[in-house]
Amino acid sequence: SFTLYIQSRRRRQRRFAAKFEQRPIELRSDEIVSGVTGLIGNTPLVRINSLSDALGVEILGKAEFLNPGGSVKDRVALRMIDDAERLGLLRPYTGSRIFEGTVGSTGISIATIARARGYDCTIIMPDDVAEEKVKALKALGADVERVRPASIVDKKQYVNLARQRAAKFGRLDSTDKSSPNSKKKRPNIIESNSASVLVTTTASRVEFDMEDPHSKDEYLSKPRGYFADQFENRSNYEAHYNGTGPEIWRQTNGRLDAFVSGAGTGGTIAGIGQYIKSKNENVVIVLSDPEGSGLYNKVKHGVMFDRKETEGTKRRHQVDTVVEGIGINRLTNNIDLALPIIDDAFRITDAEAVSMSRYLVKNDGLFLGSSSACNLVACVKLVRRMGWAEGQKVVTILCDSGSRHYSKPLLPRFTLMSALRNDEYLRKAHIPMDPQIVEDLLLPL
Ligand code: PMP
Repeated sequence: SFTLYIQSRRRRQRRFAAKFEQRPIELRSDEIVSGVTGLIGNTPLVRINSLSDALGVEILGKAEFLNPGGSVKDRVALRMIDDAERLGLLRPYTGSRIFEGTVGSTGISIATIARARGYDCTIIMPDDVAEEKVKALKALGADVERVRPASIVDKKQYVNLARQRAAKFGRLDSTDKSSPNSKKKRPNIIESNSASVLVTTTASRVEFDMEDPHSKDEYLSKPRGYFADQFENRSNYEAHYNGTGPEIWRQTNGRLDAFVSGAGTGGTIAGIGQYIKSKNENVVIVLSDPEGSGLYNKVKHGVMFDRKETEGTKRRHQVDTVVEGIGINRLTNNIDLALPIIDDAFRITDAEAVSMSRYLVKNDGLFLGSSSACNLVACVKLVRRMGWAEGQKVVTILCDSGSRHYSKPLLPRFTLMSALRNDEYLRKAHIPMDPQIVEDLLLPL
């Protein structure tokens, strides 16, 4: 009966394909855009044909891998730089430098935009992220620093290190206290409407006396270090609340039943989720969380950690799975914005995510990154749990392309040193890549 099911599915698929593939190849838009930043956003929603046909429910992915920097993070990087310029924390062509701690995508986006906007950038990342990202960063002219993955409480953890480097950069002497970077945690960006502009960032307070027109100018004329801080920076959330969210609403004519997303910084699910909830609070907002992340527990049980699960392990800030970019073990400003609007969560295994990524290549010709695959597994599980089968619409984010992760699920860095250092690498070497796992998820109940 399984063969029969597959045959009927293939037949249905061909009928659907005929209906949907009569579109001539044309430009995404016929307007002329200004520079590389003009290419960011306004991405299409793509119907995932194999999954949609098998489920009878429309599974639509926001094709963020089409952004010029190759991921959803272009939107965030652009918004963070725009806001920093607007708040007077950065001025182009002054030798200023943007610092960020990232597992990669945000770094690539910052590097792409930094060049177009007249900045240098330093990207600090853990040394176990996919090699492709490092190559891309170097090709874009970024300075890359790789550190041993460490717990968030360590000074040498990559986000902490980026903060420190930014604080030191451009300080001409110890009396220059105006650098907008400090060790202050969980900051916010505030703007006052008084005579002076008060900016509180991840750093400290910068006060420009508006009575003295030279004060801001003088501050900005020196090369400055700016710590972008995607985890805590509200611009991250704003990029999605004002951009991706409204785009999805427009593209679906407000008719969607669920939105599914993972969370790394939390900006995507917070911004899009809040926008959609503001329009229709009945749309279900669902978190797809990889194993090892504390968010699933937080959503389901109100606490991040189950004692038993974490006993004896050193808690890492980014979750150590094949799936890159989503899952986190601490709360951030952007996660805080997301938690109130998340209705449900699924925990997705590495094997499920990797299998989904192979399944999509085999059936749809879509080579997506592991976090996109993770999101799509959650979409299938959601549809099954809800018992949906007729024309409902589930939207998710296709964060980046598989080409950025190619080396990781297929060729885990399995060296003697890595094996000695961390037995996670051994586990990663044995991830099954079995499209059957997805076929099983798709079987009618
Ligand atoms: N997918 C990938 C590949 C990512 O790099 C990230 C960001 N770390 C995400 C998903 C998650 O997005 P967000 O940070 O907005 O939660």
